[in-house]
Amino acid sequence: MVLIVISNLYPIVGLSINGTVVQTTLGGAVRVLYLDGMWPLAGLVFATTILMPVVQTASMLWILLPLSVNRIPWHTAMVFRLYHLAGPWTMTEVLILGLLVALVKLAHIASVAVGVALWSFGALMLVLAAAAAAFEPRDLWSRVTAERDTVDAGQAREPAPCDAVTAAQHGLALCHDCGLLARVPAHGQNLSCPRCGASLHMRTPNSLSRTWALLIAATVLYIPANVLPVMNTSSLFGAQKDTIMSGVAYLWTSGSWLLAAIVFIASVAVPMLKILALAYLTASTQLQSKRLPEQRTRIYRAVEFVGRWSMLDIYVITMLVALVQFKSLATIEAGPAAIAFGAVVVLTMFAAMTFDPRLIWDAAECDHARS
Ligand SMILES: [Zn+2]
Repeated sequence: MVLIVISNLYPIVGLSINGTVVQTTLGGAVRVLYLDGMWPLAGLVFATTILMPVVQTASMLWILLPLSVNRIPWHTAMVFRLYHLAGPWTMTEVLILGLLVALVKLAHIASVAVGVALWSFGALMLVLAAAAAAFEPRDLWSRVTAERDTVDAGQAREPAPCDAVTAAQHGLALCHDCGLLARVPAHGQNLSCPRCGASLHMRTPNSLSRTWALLIAATVLYIPANVLPVMNTSSLFGAQKDTIMSGVAYLWTSGSWLLAAIVFIASVAVPMLKILALAYLTASTQLQSKRLPEQRTRIYRAVEFVGRWSMLDIYVITMLVALVQFKSLATIEAGPAAIAFGAVVVLTMFAAMTFDPRLIWDAAECDHARS
């Protein structure tokens, strides 16, 4: 929490051209985007780099501080679900990489001075990762409630004729938020987790059709994201419009091969591969394919893990727009593709969350047991 405050109070980077110094905090950068009329982008950057880290840290403190003096925290269930919600949207590590890429780009334009906040963001990234690794929900729940790990949410139903042991066949469902294993009745509807109150279901409802809808929307937006300019630069030497690919090409020709490769992988390759991989998983699951369930599960895990790194370019653009504001000399504005690109990242993240990997096994499992 201390590091979050420091990271947001102090400037991240300062840039000087001919004695004119521009420096910005993260909040200041978001404000510049907002004032330029790029409010969807401003909202996305604000949510993933300021709001969600605060929500995650504050909800952990809310739960852990009372427990450390042996008191039960208020509204544990609601606060825990808030913590769970914030997790995938806290992108401090991606922000750090974005800041580094922006620094390299800016170093070509003017002299750059690294601010206190960059270091404190680095420390925040490590501390957040360590905190998330040390946080043990099971331990928390066993102290907050004296419940067993399996609780009745209704009448048990008859096990399905298949011999394979899956929770669903025994009328058990795992809560997505708190991990509680609960019994659910055969035709129960609108059930909620007895421990944390999250809605409870055997499988994510309408998983396949919702994943398809999100994937189609992402595919449509992937086109303007790559064709339209992400950045408009106007300087003494004229105006220039940059697409994602021309940004990569610029990094490549200016000698920053490693960064060019990182930006290309994060902004071009990952979103496309993610859409293709999810489409393959959704299609094969819909066709009830029994082939390669292990490999398909691994693909899903990889897709879920790498998706967040596509936000990289959004953060690079945010920093460039905030810092390159030298009225008569040069200014950079975010282009329409930046919004489309941000939407692609968010939509594919939602698509990966909506796809239920257990469906892969539902088709494969029964067969394993019979053969
Ligand atoms: Zn729960």
